[in-house]
Amino acid sequence: MSHRPTTMQLYLDHCPRAVDHYERGTPQNRDIFTVGTVAHEILFAIGQGMPIEPIVASLIATGRTGDDSEGPMRPDAVFEGRDLALAWSEAHPIPDGAFFEYAFAFDGDWKPCAWDQARFRTRVDVVHRRTEEDEDGHDIQDLVITDYKSAWPATETELDTLQRRAQAVSGWLSWGDEIGSITIAVANLRRRQVFERVIPLDEEGVALLQQWQRDLEVVMDAIDVREPDGQRPARPGARCGGCPYAASCEPARDLLARHGASDTADVVRRYIAARALAAELEPHIRSATARWSWMTSRSGPFRPRPGPPGRGSCLRSRSHGSVPPASRLTRGCAARCLDGGAGSGARPSRWWRSSGSSSTKTPRCGRRG
Ligand code: SF4
Repeated sequence: MSHRPTTMQLYLDHCPRAVDHYERGTPQNRDIFTVGTVAHEILFAIGQGMPIEPIVASLIATGRTGDDSEGPMRPDAVFEGRDLALAWSEAHPIPDGAFFEYAFAFDGDWKPCAWDQARFRTRVDVVHRRTEEDEDGHDIQDLVITDYKSAWPATETELDTLQRRAQAVSGWLSWGDEIGSITIAVANLRRRQVFERVIPLDEEGVALLQQWQRDLEVVMDAIDVREPDGQRPARPGARCGGCPYAASCEPARDLLARHGASDTADVVRRYIAARALAAELEPHIRSATARWSWMTSRSGPFRPRPGPPGRGSCLRSRSHGSVPPASRLTRGCAARCLDGGAGSGARPSRWWRSSGSSSTKTPRCGRRG
């Protein structure tokens, strides 16, 4: 089982089942990504010194091949992507010695391995080295890992995503002995701006990269969890909105059917409306259930215990180590309210039973008043 930042992001942004869809090649609506995809292809071609026009023609006629193959693309989006790439390469000449679509692949022990045997693998848009000065004025080698983005909002916020972290860890594991720092760069093709974050490979920087590496392992382990039928769990809900597989995902369709909704956006609207209604009703429910709320405190129902003979009060047993009742509305509290007849004056059933016997109706208090 091989993991990539793309599948990890699907897992985090949507749900585990989305990773199954990705691996099965379930069709997804990628229209909104076409411009960015084309820009990547053209920048790769420029970096390799390949002619551009045949690539443009083939993207329109047949699409692209490879890991994330796609069918024929809309001509207007292809032309827009091409123009973005050409404008970028004019403003930002390709650095000498840069590697395009550089492939990192690691096995389960984070040792470099073949692409098809990797537990974790990723392709980086551009990797290159440059000489920088450290704080003491010494020359150091800086490894720059650049990711092209074509969305306007991709700025500094894109410097700390799981994908960037995975790229930094990959660079560090591959060249950590030869370099003094790693720069994670986001190149926004539309803004024609580069955003960078430098990680010096000192004690603190290495500790950070080690932590990111452990975080990646946690996410990969989580993605590997499957249900008895071999599929990853589906979590249909608000995150179906925006999921690229919503149109063909069975659990998402079941969700729509259960709620009589037309699409995932409709489910999200209903969810928001339900949350708003709950918030509006909560003060009224709190007031109606206040008398039972102590029964659902964090310490559980208060059960008085006997105090010392002759001196005790049933409340003394609360004086040490007790946790004050949480003032919150819970389903248990609301259920007890309904069970006991809110507003009727009736106590909820079993409210004074001891923990040791369900038959006695004598509270476990040493001295009844
Ligand atoms: S549509 Fe919903 S349930 Fe299906 S994969 Fe996407 S987030 Fe998960």
